[in-house]
Amino acid sequence: MRQYREQKARVGDALLLFRMGDFYELFYDDAVLGAKLLGIALTSRDGGRTPLAGIPHHALESYLARLVAAGQKVAISEQIEDASQARGLVRREIVRIVTPGTLTDEALLDRLTSNVLAALVPHEREAGLATLELASGELIVQTCEPAHLLDELGRAAPAEVLLAEGRGVGRDPLEEEIRQRTGAAVTYRSVADFQPHRALGLLTEQFQTRDLTGFGFERMDASLQAAGALVAYVRETQQGAARHLRPPRRRAPREHVVLDPTTLRALEIERTLRTGQREGSLLEAVDRTANPMGARLLRQWLCFPLRDPVAIGRRQGLVEALRSDGRRRGIIREALRELGDLERMVGRLGVQRTHPRELRALGDGLRRLPAVREALRGLGLTEAEELCAVLDGLDALAERLCSTLRRDAPVTVREGGIFAEGVHPELDRLRGISRDGQSWLAEFQARQIERTGIPSLKVGYNRIFGYYIEVTHPHRERVPSDYRRRQTVKNAERYVTDELQRYESEVLAAQSRANDLEHELFIELRESVALEIPRLQAAARAMAELDVLAGWAELARAGRWCRPELVDEPLLYIEQGRHPVLSQRIGPAFVPNDTELLAGGRSLALITGPNMAGKSTYIRQVALLTLLAHCGCLVPAARMRLGVVDRIFTRVGASDELARGQSTFMIEMLETSNILHNATRDSLVILDEVGRGTSTFDGLALAWAITEHLATRCGCRTLFATHYHELTELAELLEPVQALNVAVREYEDQVVFLHRIVPGAADRSYGLHVARLAGIPAAVLERAHAVLIELERSFDRQARRPVLAAAQRRRLRQLRLFEEPEEAVVRELRELNPAELTPQHALETIALWRRKLDPQEPPAPSAAPESPA
Ligand code: ADP
Ligand code: MG
Repeated sequence: MRQYREQKARVGDALLLFRMGDFYELFYDDAVLGAKLLGIALTSRDGGRTPLAGIPHHALESYLARLVAAGQKVAISEQIEDASQARGLVRREIVRIVTPGTLTDEALLDRLTSNVLAALVPHEREAGLATLELASGELIVQTCEPAHLLDELGRAAPAEVLLAEGRGVGRDPLEEEIRQRTGAAVTYRSVADFQPHRALGLLTEQFQTRDLTGFGFERMDASLQAAGALVAYVRETQQGAARHLRPPRRRAPREHVVLDPTTLRALEIERTLRTGQREGSLLEAVDRTANPMGARLLRQWLCFPLRDPVAIGRRQGLVEALRSDGRRRGIIREALRELGDLERMVGRLGVQRTHPRELRALGDGLRRLPAVREALRGLGLTEAEELCAVLDGLDALAERLCSTLRRDAPVTVREGGIFAEGVHPELDRLRGISRDGQSWLAEFQARQIERTGIPSLKVGYNRIFGYYIEVTHPHRERVPSDYRRRQTVKNAERYVTDELQRYESEVLAAQSRANDLEHELFIELRESVALEIPRLQAAARAMAELDVLAGWAELARAGRWCRPELVDEPLLYIEQGRHPVLSQRIGPAFVPNDTELLAGGRSLALITGPNMAGKSTYIRQVALLTLLAHCGCLVPAARMRLGVVDRIFTRVGASDELARGQSTFMIEMLETSNILHNATRDSLVILDEVGRGTSTFDGLALAWAITEHLATRCGCRTLFATHYHELTELAELLEPVQALNVAVREYEDQVVFLHRIVPGAADRSYGLHVARLAGIPAAVLERAHAVLIELERSFDRQARRPVLAAAQRRRLRQLRLFEEPEEAVVRELRELNPAELTPQHALETIALWRRKLDPQEPPAPSAAPESPA
C-alpha cells in the first residue's frame, strides 16, 4: 500500500489501475468511482476500511475504453518484474497514462474522428489556443480575440482541454463553458507549464532547436504558451518523449473562412440537427474517401474552408484532373484502400507502441506508393508532381520491412516469430537448434519404443513439466529403471530421463536466446524506422489529401458537379444549384435554383412562401455551395461564380435550442446581435425566420430593422427566408433588396409546391392547405377555416388583435358537430349579418358553402392571409 500511495500521489486526478497478479485493482475513492462507471463489484479489505474493485488483466482494453469515454484519466501501473523471481516487493511502474485527449491505441480511437487535445490561454488582450492530435502529431497554434476563443475551440472539437489551475477562486467559470460547448473533459495543469519561459524551453527541447524563429515565430505569444503546456502534458502521460510531434504550425487569422458553432450546427456540417448523427450531414454527403485518414481530413477541411484563391485553385485543379482520368483515379483509390491508417501507425511509432505486425503492415502499405506516384505523374499537373515528390524516398524502407518481417508477425515483441529466415545469422542458428530438435525428438521416441517394446510410447510437452515420455498403464511393467516418474494422468504415467532433460534445457535455452535476440533486433529496427517519421508523416498527409480529392472527383463525375470560378468581385452567382445532401437523396425530383447576389449592390434576397415550399432548403443550399467552393470541392450546380467570403453566418430556426434552457427568443437575438456586430461586406449571411419568437409586431419590426441594417449599412450577401410577407415591402423601398418567393400551383383543392424560386413576393401562406396535406381531418380544417374568417373580420387595429363582437362570439360558440351540410349552410346564412360583410368575405363565404354542399368544388379563389395585417 505504501507503493500504491506513492504512485497515486504522482498521478493526480487520474484513476490508478494497480497491477496485482491477474488483476488491475482500484483502491479507495478510485474503487468507488470505478465500480460505478464500470458496473463491477465493489469489495473491501482490511476489515472494510479499504474499498477495492478489480478488473481481470486480459480485459484491460475494453474497461479502459469505457473509462476514457466517461471522461476519466487512467494511469496504469504494471509489475515490471516476474513475481516468482522478485525478492521482497514486486517492482511496479506507471507505464502509461491514458486520457481522453491523448489516445494512440487503435482500440481506443474512432477510425473516422480525430482525437484532439487542446490548451487555452485566455489572456485579456490576446487569447491563445493550441491543439494537438497525438495520433498524428499535428500541433496547431492560433491567437485570437478573447471573445472568439470558445468559437475557435468549438471548431477544433477537442476531447480534452488543458487549463492553468488557480485562475481566480474556486472552479474556473471557463470550465463549464467548455463542457457545454465541446463536451470535452477539462484538466487543470500547473500554472508553471503555461509560463512563457518554461513553454519556450519545452518547445525548443522537443523540437531540438535554439529558438522558434525557424518555424516562423518571432516572439512568444499566448498560443505558444498553450503549446508548451501541451508538450509538458504529453511527455507526462506518455512517460517519455513523443518523437512524432510536428513543429507548431500557426493558423493565421485570415487563412480560413470563419464558421461559428451556431453556423456549423445550423448548416448540419458534421451532424444533423434532428438526430445528431453523421448520416444526413454535409460531411457524409461529400465523403467518398477510401481510407480513414481521408475521412478525418475531410472533416477538418469542411470546418476550415480556405480563403486563399490560389490554395483553393490547387485543390480544384487536382479534383478536375482526377475526375477526367478514371483509370488513374482508380489506381490511386485502390492504393488508398490497401494503404492502412499510415498516419496513426506513425503516431504509435512516435510513442514506441508499434508492434511487429503493425510494422509489417506499414511496410505493406508503403509498397503501394510507387503505383500512386506513377498515376500522379500521368496526370501531368504541377500540383500532382508536388504530391509525387512527397511520396518519394520510402521505397527502400518498404522493401526492408517486407523482406525482414514475417507476414504473420505477432502483436507481441518478446515471444519471437517476428523476423524471416536469413535476416540474421545468429537467429537462424538458434532457430536451427530447436528445429533440429524436432527431428531429434522423433528419433528419441523411436529409440525408446524399440528399447522398451512399448508401441504406444509417446514423447510430449507441456508448459509445467516440460518434455516427458508417456506410457499407458497396461505397459507400466515394461518401464526401464532409469525413467523417473513425473506425473500421473488418467490412463498413463509420465516420465523423464537425463538425456531428455539435457535436450530440453538446450532447446529451451536456444529458443529463449532467439526470442531475446528477435526482441533486440525489433527494437533496433523500430528505432531506425522512427528516424523516418517526418518523411512518413508528410507521405501520410499527402495520401490523406489525395483521398479527399479523389473522392470528390468521383462525386463530381457521378453528379455532374462543376468547378466554381473564383473572382475578385464580392458576388455570388449560381445557376441551377442543388442542395448537396437533399439532391443526392431524392435525385431528379430535386428542383435546381439560381442565385444572384452582389455585395454592395443587389445584396439581399428576401424569400417568402408557404410553409414547406422549400425556403430553408434553398438558403442553406446557397450557404453549403459557398462553403464547398471554399474547400476546393466542386459543387452541384451548372455554374457558380463567387468572390471569397470571410465568414458564413447562419441563424436557422430556434426549435432545436429549447434544450439549452435559455429562452429561444433570447438566443435568437444573441446570435443575431453577433451577426450584426461582426458581418463585413465580405460575409455571407443566412437568416431563417428571425423574429419569430416574439409577438407578431415586435418580431416584424425587428426583422425589418435587421434587414435594413444588413442591406444598407453592411451590404453583405444575405439570404433571408421569412414568413413576414410585409417585409417584402422593403424590396420596393431599398435598392439592395430583392424579393423572391417559392412558386406554388393550386391543383384541385391541393397546393403543389414547385420548389422553384421566382422573383416577387408570395401573397399568402397556405397554412390550412399544409394542414390538409398533413392529414388533419376535414371537419377540423373546415372549422379552422370558419374561425379564421371570424378572426380576420374582427381584427382590431388599435388593440392589435382580434376583438370579437357579441354576434361573432355566438357564432363561434355554435359548433355543430353532426349537421348535414344543407342545415349548416342554412344556419350560417341565418346568422349572417350582411352589413358586417366585405365583398371579399361574401365571395369567400359563398365559395365555402358551395364546397360544403359539393366537396368536388374547387377551393376558394383566394384564401384569407394567415397574418392579421
Ligand atoms: P420551408 O422552409 O419553406 O418551410 P423546407 O425548405 O423546409 O421548406 O422544405 C420542405 C420540404 O420540401 C423539404 O423537406 C424537401 O423535401 C422539399 N424540398 C425543398 N426544396 C426542394 C427542391 N428544390 N426540390 C425538391 N424538393 C424540395
Ligand atoms: Mg423553413
